[in-house]
Amino acid sequence: MVQTLFHQDAYLTDFQAVVTACRAQEDAYWIALDNTAFYDTSGGQPNDTGTLDQAQVLDVIKENGVIWHRTDRPLAVGAVVQGHVDWPRRFDHMCQHAADHMIAGMLWQKYGATTIGLHTGQQISSIDVDMHALEPKLTRAQMDEIELLVMQQIQRDVPIRCWFPDPQEIASLPLRKAPTVKENVRVVQIGDYECVACGGTHPSSAGQIGLIKIVSCQPNRGNMRLFFLAGQRAYRYFQQLQNATDSVCALLSTNPEALYAHVEGILSQRQQAQQALAQLQTQQALAQADTLIQSALPCGEIRTAVGTFDSLPETALRELASKLIDQQSDLAVALFSKGAEKTLVVFACGKAVPFKMGNLLRETLAVFGGRGGGKPDFAMGSLPAKADIQKAAAVFRQKIAAL
Ligand SMILES: [Zn+2]
Repeated sequence: MVQTLFHQDAYLTDFQAVVTACRAQEDAYWIALDNTAFYDTSGGQPNDTGTLDQAQVLDVIKENGVIWHRTDRPLAVGAVVQGHVDWPRRFDHMCQHAADHMIAGMLWQKYGATTIGLHTGQQISSIDVDMHALEPKLTRAQMDEIELLVMQQIQRDVPIRCWFPDPQEIASLPLRKAPTVKENVRVVQIGDYECVACGGTHPSSAGQIGLIKIVSCQPNRGNMRLFFLAGQRAYRYFQQLQNATDSVCALLSTNPEALYAHVEGILSQRQQAQQALAQLQTQQALAQADTLIQSALPCGEIRTAVGTFDSLPETALRELASKLIDQQSDLAVALFSKGAEKTLVVFACGKAVPFKMGNLLRETLAVFGGRGGGKPDFAMGSLPAKADIQKAAAVFRQKIAAL
């Protein structure tokens, strides 16, 4: 069995070891040592990186009790090598991992919730929690409360102790859940509230985590997934939020306290302006009614009119069509409003027109890849923005002539 130095001292970054095996595999090499301070990916905590002499350690895994270090070059079996663990990466993982314990322990204490999985991600970490009979989601106020309780433990700088107790001692410990291994059970205890079996690396006291932030939580397959940041990640997140808030405040000439009300006011003004614009556009469209009626072409017993507009809202298009068919019982109209993403289309007809506009519109639009439908006297749909409106209008008239 390899000696796991990280279990004895989580702060050890430099060590000597003897190379016991070297396996070549495609473009990488896998090195085994008689002892190592490199943590292997396990228990939701990612592996360490660093160097073994001149070789870069890119990955660390455990296979059948052997810890293998993936390197960019081979190392001679029997050689004594100098190992160096990338400390900023390791310490970041220690902070995320210990924060995970503290949040999980607090959720257990507060809600009787059981942690079923954890993941220290590159950007953000998550815990999967079985909330049992409770809703698998916390409100922001509940998240804030858990965060505050954990922060109080961090500010008290409660000790974090890791050790290998004997079976008799294990039986006496207030473990949050039963260990998954029977032998060499390692226990981590944080303050007087978190106690659980764990093989990960942890800081020696909670104060070193500095800061935690529960970012969000969501239901996940019947359980709750909670996202959090700890240590410098939480601090950088605060910087990002402040930078974003400051930029928006500068843009709007306001301060963070007044930001919400300020944006609410802008949105309300925008909605009023949109409504006023729509009214204006409707009035302008209705003023076109006479011109459209004069331009109508005879088609057997009835007449057809076609109107094309730029970015006319749906309400204005509808009102214009209604006005035309109310006034002209023998008129069938096709109205098009060309927008950036699609062209809105209305087909409508007066009482004396015997054709079904819903079917006519569906068939006409289908020719150009559009969709829509409606009632016998009024139908609505849309065409892709690139569709040729003049050709669609021509099809409308041809189909009416053929009916
Ligand atoms: Zn742990």
